[in-house]
This record gives sequence, C-alpha cells and structure tokens, in this order.
Amino acid sequence: MITRSYDYVIVGAGFAGAVLAERLATQLGKRSLVVERRNHIGGNAHDGIDASGVLIHNYGPHYFRTNSDRILAYLSQFTQWHEVEYKILSWTHGRLWNFPINLNTFEQFIGKAATSEEMQAALERWKVPIQNPTNSEEVIISQVGWELYEMFFRGYTKKQWRREPKDLDPSICGRIPVRTNRDDRYLSDRFQALPKNGYTAVFERMLDHPLIDVQLNTDYRDVMATTSCGHMIYTGALDEYFDCRFGPLPYRSLRFETETLEQEYYQAAMQVNYPNDHDYTRIVEIKHATGQVCPRTTIVREYPQDYVPGSEPYYPVLDPTAKEMRDRYWELAEAEQKVSFVGRLATFRYLNMDQVVGMALAEFERLRSKLNA
Ligand code: FAD
Ligand code: UDP
Repeated sequence: MITRSYDYVIVGAGFAGAVLAERLATQLGKRSLVVERRNHIGGNAHDGIDASGVLIHNYGPHYFRTNSDRILAYLSQFTQWHEVEYKILSWTHGRLWNFPINLNTFEQFIGKAATSEEMQAALERWKVPIQNPTNSEEVIISQVGWELYEMFFRGYTKKQWRREPKDLDPSICGRIPVRTNRDDRYLSDRFQALPKNGYTAVFERMLDHPLIDVQLNTDYRDVMATTSCGHMIYTGALDEYFDCRFGPLPYRSLRFETETLEQEYYQAAMQVNYPNDHDYTRIVEIKHATGQVCPRTTIVREYPQDYVPGSEPYYPVLDPTAKEMRDRYWELAEAEQKVSFVGRLATFRYLNMDQVVGMALAEFERLRSKLNA
C-alpha cells in the first residue's frame, strides 16, 4: 500500500544522486526521497575522521580535478577548496620513481641528467609506432616503448584488473599522462583541489533541504511498494536494475586495509604505487593531500579483488565483450520513460567525480525542459 509520495525517488546518495536532489529542490521546488543502501551519504567519495582522529577517504583516494568552470562554480556553492598538487611515486626495481613518467623519471632511468629534447629523442627510439591504439598495452608502448611499460604498467594493470592491458580499453591506461618536462603532478587538469572540510561536508550541505528526505541503510527495492513517485533517478548498477537479464556485467572490487601509526607521516608522498611488488596496488596516505595537522597518520593499502555479488562494484571492467553487453542494457535503459540512469555505475563508465557532476547537471536540464514542454 502506498503510504508516501514524492516527485522523485533518487537511488543512491553519491555525486549523481546528490546533485540531482539539490537541483530539483532548489531550482524547481521538487520533493525527493534519496534512498541509499549504505549507512552514509557521499557514495564512493565519502570521507570521515577515523578512530585515531585522521581524516581518511574511505573508498580509495578521491583527488578532485576539473577543467570545467561550470562544474567548479556549481560545487563551490557548497565548499571552499584546499588547493593541492597531487604527487605520487612508484616503487619498483628496489627504489622509488617519479610517476607518471616525466623528465625526472627519465633521468632516474638513464642514471644521469638529461634535457626534454634528449628524453623526446629516446622515446622516439623506444616507442612502437601505432597510429590508433586499440587497447591499454598499445596506448602505453606507443608512447614509451616496452621497457617502461613493463616497469610501470603491466604488473599494476594485471593486479588491478586481472587482465592483460592488451585486453582492456585504451582509455584505462590512457588516463595516465606521459610528459617530457618536469611536471610530475599525477593529473593534468587545470583545477586540482580537495573540499576544504572534506567530501562528506559537501554532501551534507547539498542534501540539507526541507524538500529532500534521505533514507540510509535501505535498498530502493524495499521501499517501492510503499512509495510513489513521478520519476526515478537511478544511480546504482545498470545490470542490477534489469535483474542481470543479459548476464552480469564485469566489475572489479577492492579490499581496503587501514593502519594507523604513531608518527606524523609514513611515506614520502600521498600515494605510492606498487606495480611489481606485493598483492596491493598502492598505499595511500591522504594526509599529505588534505594538509591535516595531526601527530598520527593512517595509511590505506588497496588490494584488488574479484567482484562477487554482495561486495562493492568499484570499477566497471571495460573490455569489448562488456561494452557490447552494456550497450544492450543501455537500450533497455533508454526505453524507460520514467527512469533516468545517471552516474558511474548506472552508465557502466569509468567516470571521475567532475564528469559525474557534469552528467547530473545535464540530466537536470533535460528533466527541466521535459517539465516545461
Ligand atoms: P557512487 O558514488 O557509487 O554512488 C552510487 C550510490 O548508489 C552508492 O552509494 C550505492 O551504495 C548506492 N546504491 C547502489 N544500488 C543501490 C540500491 N539498489 N539501493 C540503494 N542505493 C543503492 N574520481 C575522481 O574524480 N578522482 C579520484 O581520485 C577518484 N578516485 C577513485 C578511487 C576509487 C577506488 C574509486 C572506486 C573511484 C574513484 N573515483 C575518483 C570515481 C568516483 O568515485 C566516482 O566518479 C563518483 O563517486 C561516482 O558517483 P556516483 O554517484 O555515480 O556513484
Ligand atoms: N596504472 C598503471 N600503473 C600505475 C598507475 C596506473 O598501470 O602506476 C594503470 C592501471 O591500469 C590503472 C589505470 O592506469 O587501473 C588508471 O589509474 P588511476 O590511478 O587513474 O586509477 P584509479 O585511481 O581510478 O584507481
């Protein structure tokens, strides 16, 4: 029996769900119920103070970056920013290397000082000529050749995805820049910063509105028999919505192992990657990036895991078969007139936070024009 009624039911309190709830409430005066399976808001961007007082990112490091003034202006309504240049290192062959590959890495590799021109000339000799890389192996060997690929990419990617880079979409390793100058920031986007008081505070502000109800610890399927709505916004997994009728889409999961140490810092950078050693891919000490002043530190080791139903589907695995299956599900999604599929899981795409915010803002405009039509 229907006991309550909303304009919108929004499944998931991550960026996709929160942006839409906020826009619908503040711009159109629409009432939403945000239903979230987890016991907190923020989705994978959720952060919080751990038992020892250290601010950590609970689901892996979330480095906010964007090239979009529009997305930055939108989010800046809810937070001030702590600007930070994200710098990471890679541990392999018994030492730390600058990463992503840049002129410093090249000097470490050849064991002497060099110029950008010398690095460019070396890369010209090493790289494998491939016009249009069709997979993640080709995208790297076509830029830096086999040896640097084997050192930094192959082992990490096999651990992370349990697939050879040649069996993965070029966009996966293609995310990582290669530079011949001394810019050793992990990311290249113009704006790079963390929300000054953390991500969870951003979500609290976005969702703090009399027209928005948030219900945690609840699967949306458990409320739909008693809740009516004009339209649903779904940000959960695409295949799950359709009861996996074409088969399950492939995901990779993670296990996070945290350790608190009675020292100010543990490692030299906020993230150290381990392409060829250990079962974990990286150790993250986010305190380097948050700038928190605290006598203790917490580090998080990330162990890639097979996804099994009941675990978290952190990463869509973008191989050709999965993309074909995704397209079949997407056809069904497009036919659903009263449901919008928004965000990383609902579109089965490897999207960053700013891209998800952009997607949610675009969906809001689409819904608004539909209402005005
Ligand atoms: P989510 O944050 O996944 O939110 C979806 C929510 O829906 C979840 O909370 C889920 O519990 C809920 N849900 C699902 N099904 C149901 C259901 N049936 N009923 C109720 N609730 C449901 N992006 C960056 O820009 N920079 C980074 O450095 C970065 N690092 C990352 C590191 C890791 C390890 C991971 C996994 C992701 C990273 N991302 C990063 C990507 C970022 O997390 C996503 O872009 C963003 O969080 C996606 O937001 P979303 O709302 O689409 O999904
Ligand atoms: N990657 C790699 N070596 C590294 C870092 C990344 O091979 O040292 C590859 C790997 O396949 C990884 C992808 O590049 O999954 C994207 O890396 P990113 O750090 O962007 O991953 P995320 O933070 O999304 O887990």
